[in-house]
Amino acid sequence: MKEKFEKKTSGPRTLALYVHIPFCIRKCFYCDFLSAPASLEIKAAYVKKLLEELEYWKERLSGAYQIQTVFMGGGTPSCLLETELCSLGEMILSFPLFDDVEYTIEANPGTVSFGMAAAFRDMQVNRVSLGLQSANDEELKALGRIHTYAEFRRSYELLREAGFFNLNIDLMADIPGQTLQSYQNTLEKVCALKPEHISSYSLIVEEGTRFYEMQEQGALVLPDEDTDRRMYERTEAYLREYGYERYEISNYAKPGKECKHNLTYWEMGEYLGVGLGASSYLEGSRFRTEEDLKTYLSSSVKLSVEKEKHLLSKREEIEEFVFLGLRKCSGISVSGFEKRFGKSFYGLYQPVLSSLFQKGLLAESENRDKIYLTRKGIDVSNVVLAEFLLEAAEEL
Ligand code: SF4
Repeated sequence: MKEKFEKKTSGPRTLALYVHIPFCIRKCFYCDFLSAPASLEIKAAYVKKLLEELEYWKERLSGAYQIQTVFMGGGTPSCLLETELCSLGEMILSFPLFDDVEYTIEANPGTVSFGMAAAFRDMQVNRVSLGLQSANDEELKALGRIHTYAEFRRSYELLREAGFFNLNIDLMADIPGQTLQSYQNTLEKVCALKPEHISSYSLIVEEGTRFYEMQEQGALVLPDEDTDRRMYERTEAYLREYGYERYEISNYAKPGKECKHNLTYWEMGEYLGVGLGASSYLEGSRFRTEEDLKTYLSSSVKLSVEKEKHLLSKREEIEEFVFLGLRKCSGISVSGFEKRFGKSFYGLYQPVLSSLFQKGLLAESENRDKIYLTRKGIDVSNVVLAEFLLEAAEEL
């Protein structure tokens, strides 16, 4: 294994850093993320290991990369002790960061106190993402969330008072018992708070979750497809009225407040994931950190990192670039594609493009440099994206 990353004469490359905190107070019924409740001792041991892993990467990346965005997610980072967060924060600040680094932390509304907000400030966090999901307490209960809407309001106000001017609120559609009207009420309440960014995802029932078991037993009743469609349409129309632009299938922002960290993923920029099960994309390879907590805690850092390392072939890189790029409303840049892959986008995909343009699923900008999904295309995005799979034997 190469010990250090190569320095470029043109200066350091930009990197997005993700730090995973795999702990939650209680597991939500729909959640299949790598997160679980844990004792104070386990959390302390994890923070110790995470600091070692960060130190390891700092040494290896030294001089080759500069960090443009940091995202501490999970799980629930805010369920660590303030002192633990501050020691992680201190370590992160010792990396070479851009002056205008976007530094996000995820927080669960039931876990934000005044002291916690102060810890975020000490860490120099400048963006907080709050998982609200719904402004209706019955729906929050149905999801197994640990907080009420009133508790969320307190956390939100506390963060504003502590000087956070870049806040995201996560919402969810298709919650058991949710109606179009109750979803609209949630949108209204959230817009009135004027967060800078809103994400709204439809509930997906994943294997291994409590909802999955309930569905197997026929005990999970979800809104029907028609309601789902109308919720989706309502989101864009309503948020636009309040000055939010949709810039990705499920993400909306006030001008200039798009999440730079997530844009790195969708633009296939390089990112390093640190902590349990975190994924990375560096120098053309994908890999992840050990995902078993016991093994992660008991192994040396060297044995926990770069698991399942896979150097993407040119075909895989092209497919991922297109799949991820088309999630953005601005689509993919044809000139960007050609610069990156040394190939003509139109030349490679001409038959597919013609057919998708004709069906009204895809559109191109006037100067033909941007290709993006139409509203109709977004509705069937999985089908459209599958059209961009290349034959394994295709000459590239
Ligand atoms: S708080 Fe987030 S990460 Fe934790 S269980 Fe709920 S959805 Fe999953």
